[in-house]
Amino acid sequence: MFVRVFHYIMKMAMYVIPWGMPKLIEGEDSILQLPEVIYKNGNRRVLVVADPFLTNNGYLQPLLDKMSELQLSYVIFSEVSPNPLDTEVENGVKMYIENNCDSLVAFGGGSPMDCAKAIGARVAKPKKSISQLQGLYRVLKKIPTLYAVPTTSGTGSETTVAAVITEASTHHKASINDNCLMPKYAVLDPKLTVSVPKRVTAITGLDALSHAVEAYTNHMYNTKLENDLAKKAVRLVYDYLYKAYEDGNNIDARSHMQKAAFYAGRAFTRGCVGNVHAIGHTLSGLYGMAHGEAMGILLPHVMRAYGEPVYKYLADLADVCNMCNGGTIKEKAEAFIVWIEELKEKMGVSVYPTCICESDIDQMVNWAFKEAVPLYPTPVVWKKEDYAKFIYSLMK
Ligand code: NAD
Repeated sequence: MFVRVFHYIMKMAMYVIPWGMPKLIEGEDSILQLPEVIYKNGNRRVLVVADPFLTNNGYLQPLLDKMSELQLSYVIFSEVSPNPLDTEVENGVKMYIENNCDSLVAFGGGSPMDCAKAIGARVAKPKKSISQLQGLYRVLKKIPTLYAVPTTSGTGSETTVAAVITEASTHHKASINDNCLMPKYAVLDPKLTVSVPKRVTAITGLDALSHAVEAYTNHMYNTKLENDLAKKAVRLVYDYLYKAYEDGNNIDARSHMQKAAFYAGRAFTRGCVGNVHAIGHTLSGLYGMAHGEAMGILLPHVMRAYGEPVYKYLADLADVCNMCNGGTIKEKAEAFIVWIEELKEKMGVSVYPTCICESDIDQMVNWAFKEAVPLYPTPVVWKKEDYAKFIYSLMK
């Protein structure tokens, strides 16, 4: 009862929050337009945040060359691991301050994008640690102008208000959630994603799907906009994820998956994610599991565990994809879950996690519960014992 009252108050509060969206710079080679936008915004000294793979393999070069042409100065911060750490963020803040930077370009998947957001949050709030900023609206201050360039199609971080950071000392992975973290610009250049390997294409695509499905089934905070974006994202994943997986050079499929990730990111920015994420973050934090893999593994299990309260919503999504020729709501919902399972199987994504240690389950339950309750308007509100039962059920 208390939790549902909290959801109702949040729903009302959400009408006064200015949600917005980043300005889009879109299309093939649109990355080359970014330096001019940075220049016109009056920024001159950029901290470029990327991961070691992208930095060491020339992915940044066309952007850097164009920035040099415009005499924009930059320094590159590439100490970003998958599931970025608070210690890495601190080193990024140091580099930002030492080089007197005035803006941030986040180039890469969710890991560099979230690291850049967290650097921005710490620059705005120099006296607060990452763990003090994690939670809801703890930054509440303008961060340096942030330009986001996604090179995977999954997290949607280029349009979300979240930065997910893992505390190195405890392995606790948690979000900083604040509207000031939404990037000012997002560059959606599909050519940047053609080199994404098959496995990363699969799991990041499932991440986008999990955002759309959790936002849609949560339903309580959504307006028509979030519901429409979630449905569009699901249809795009249905039509294009496997195509992008089969042929990474299929620019049409890559472009549509980039849009799917963006729409799904915007849908969950207001609609919120749910227990797929709350539990998935514990798998990434404790065992280093890639975020998208955790999402892909958990999504069908969590939807099955919710049962009847989500049938209607999953049936809608099955209809969006024209999956069924008639049938009851329950049958359509089941068809939707089976589609996810079959898609995962075709792409070689595991059915169950194999990493969970029984001795960690109490910690997982506490972290997942703390993340989800009361914030996420999940279709079924779980008690701690429900989390424990669910996590035990994954240990096949
Ligand atoms: P990632 O950024 O860790 O990248 C995965 C791998 O793909 C890396 O090895 C990277 O080098 C490689 N890669 C990236 N782009 C490539 C390219 N174009 N070609 C070849 N390789 C490329 O993975 P991700 O799934 O994009 O991001 C995961 C992180 O995002 C997690 O920390 C997760 O918690 C976070 N996340 C954030 C939000 C949000 O709203 N802020 C939402 C979901 C997930």
